[in-house]
Amino acid sequence: MPPYAIPPPGPDTDPGASVETPNTLRELQLVMDHAGVGIAFIKQRTVVRCNQQFSDIFGDGEAFGMAGQSSRSLYPDSDAFRALGEAAYPVMAAGIAYQSELLLKRRTGQIFWAHVTGTLVDPADTEQGSVWVIDDIDAQKHAQAQLQTVLAQQQLIFSNAMVGIVFLRDRKVTQCNGHFEQLFGYAPGELQGSSSRQWYLTEEDWIVAGEQCYAPLSEGRSFQGEMMLRKKDGSAICCDVRAKAIDPGNLGLGSIWITMDITARKQAEEALVQVREDLEHQVLARTAELRSTVLALEQKIVEQVQAERQIQQLAHFDPLTGLPNRTLLGERCSQVLSLAQRQRQTVALMFLDLDHFKNVNDSLGHGVGDDVLVELARRLRAVVREQDTVARLGGDEFVLLLPDTDRTGAAHLAVKLLETALVPFQVQAQELTVTPSIGIAMYPDNGGALDALSRCADAAMYRAKAMGRNAYCFYTSEIQQQTDSALRLGNALRRALERDQLSLHFQPQIALASGKIVGAEALLRWNHPDFGAVPPSQFIPIAESGGLILPIGAWVIRSAVRQLSEWISRGMEPITMAVNLSAIQFRDAGLPQLVTDILQEANVAPRLLELELTEGVAMNDAPGAIAIMAELHRRGIRLSIDDFGTGYSSLAHLKRFQIYKLKIDQTFVRDITVDQDDKAIVSAIISMAESLGMQTIAEGVETQGQLDFLRARGCTEVQGYYFSPPLPGTEFESLLRRGTLFQL
Ligand code: C2E
Ligand code: CA
Ligand code: CA
Repeated sequence: MPPYAIPPPGPDTDPGASVETPNTLRELQLVMDHAGVGIAFIKQRTVVRCNQQFSDIFGDGEAFGMAGQSSRSLYPDSDAFRALGEAAYPVMAAGIAYQSELLLKRRTGQIFWAHVTGTLVDPADTEQGSVWVIDDIDAQKHAQAQLQTVLAQQQLIFSNAMVGIVFLRDRKVTQCNGHFEQLFGYAPGELQGSSSRQWYLTEEDWIVAGEQCYAPLSEGRSFQGEMMLRKKDGSAICCDVRAKAIDPGNLGLGSIWITMDITARKQAEEALVQVREDLEHQVLARTAELRSTVLALEQKIVEQVQAERQIQQLAHFDPLTGLPNRTLLGERCSQVLSLAQRQRQTVALMFLDLDHFKNVNDSLGHGVGDDVLVELARRLRAVVREQDTVARLGGDEFVLLLPDTDRTGAAHLAVKLLETALVPFQVQAQELTVTPSIGIAMYPDNGGALDALSRCADAAMYRAKAMGRNAYCFYTSEIQQQTDSALRLGNALRRALERDQLSLHFQPQIALASGKIVGAEALLRWNHPDFGAVPPSQFIPIAESGGLILPIGAWVIRSAVRQLSEWISRGMEPITMAVNLSAIQFRDAGLPQLVTDILQEANVAPRLLELELTEGVAMNDAPGAIAIMAELHRRGIRLSIDDFGTGYSSLAHLKRFQIYKLKIDQTFVRDITVDQDDKAIVSAIISMAESLGMQTIAEGVETQGQLDFLRARGCTEVQGYYFSPPLPGTEFESLLRRGTLFQL
């Protein structure tokens, strides 16, 4: 018997109160109570009988049965009740179970979803009632609705997402969103079922992408990368691609791909990179610029420092030799002396200069002279001790400051210095020998300060020179006296002109061809009331250093020319008047005019005046000297070279200067009869002068032998004691008047 054939309940709805076969009923009640669904038998719109589940569903767990309740109360309203009746009864009447999901009402008033199945006990007779199986599906319905919402939301996201989303299975599109289609330029739905190959640029790209992307997906990881992909129209876009397998264990279920067009971003990034590169370039360029500026600045600073150092160097050192100069010597000297004073030491101060060094400069040029000085400086430094100072004051003047040195030590060193200086100098392919003279002053004996010591050393040096070259000399009281007398002489000389103490002597010059006096050399004499006759070799240097040589020299020229003029006016035969000129006079630009004036005053022909210059003066290629020589020559005045052979003249040079006559120095003439060298030198001078068209005169001829030699060699003129000493004007005049002819 089917369940719906349960006999209608009596007034008591308790199943246990069944009057039918109690066992069957009990079994039935058990089945009903454990069916998991609510079951009710409804007859005449009343719940006649129901199971516990039914009561639970409608009573909402409240402990009372539903039996006896109107079936109408099970529905939210009468419309729903009626609607169900109208829908269900025709179906049920056809003997079919009616099934539906609909909203029912619990006793509490709560409306809920239920699944109902209704069956008529007897389809032919609705009065027999119906059996209803009620399944509370409210929770299920709610979950379904929720799921529906989520799905709808997801669909919304999917179709409105601003990224391209595509689901692939076997690399074919199962679904994609509008954005994906738009991204690649396809119409809606156009991609459905198509292969992902079409948005790869090349077949190879597609294959490579397949290998690269699916490996992580199968491991449950996601793939992420940037790819160049292809739009429908063939243009390329750069995409950020992320993918994940729907089920990593089963790639066959497909994968989801999220694609973003990052072309613009890429371009922006590239532009940014470009901008950054540009900026870096600019920074580099600017840095380089800065660096070079800094370098230039550093260079400037280095130059500045060098310049300062150079100034320092110039201030304290001699630029030619690098030796300390006068200033530094002064500083060192005061240090050394104050130390010596405290420690009661003696100090030596040495003056060293080269004899006739001016000749080297004048004859061979300053270049050679400088080289000699540099080499000499090197040698001096090599000889002295570390604590000694070798300074150069200028020219060939060297000063040595020797701390803690006594007389013995100083003498010892002086000898060594002389020796080292004597080694010939190899300079510009020439071999030169120089002879130094050294003067030594001792602290504290000769003075307490540099000034006093310098004066003493200087005086001692002059004494050394006077003693003969290549010597050293200590300062002595005798020198002191001499120095004092030089001072006195200088003062006296200053007044000699005005006091008429100067006079001229004349020494005849004889032509070897005729034996006749053809000239006179004017030689200056100074007769001082106290000092007596002072030799010119003594007072001429004093006149030169004391600034007196110009007025004295002018006086000599004027007096000599006047004397000649007088002689001529008194009927003597005109002879040449030779006048000695010091280098200082020769450097005076007013000289040519002075001489011309003097000649004109006395009405003497210029060719009768002969100016004697020393070799050095003639060879000094100072432009001024050359111009003056040319000017004198232009004015018809003759020039001769005095003391020829002692310097370093080149004859060709002399020829250029229009030198008229060479005066062979006495030192060669002196030993001419015995010394082979002198013989050779004099012979050479004469023949070379002859070949250059110059006259020669030998001075200091004292013997017949000398005369014979000179005549044999063809010397033009002679002068010397052998013929006559220098004579006062009147005596010379009588010599001339007598018409003296020398027996040659
Ligand atoms: P110097 O120009 O070489 O003059 C020749 C010197 O030799 C003269 O000496 C003369 O007296 C001397 N003497 C002449 N014959 C002989 C001789 O046979 N044997 C020897 N041993 N000596 C002889 P002095 O007069 O003492 O003049 C010396 C130097 O003084 C001159 O040398 C000249 O350089 C200079 N001097 C003389 N007068 C003047 C002058 O007016 N102006 C200039 N600047 N210097 C002058
Ligand atoms: Ca002379
Ligand atoms: Ca001479």
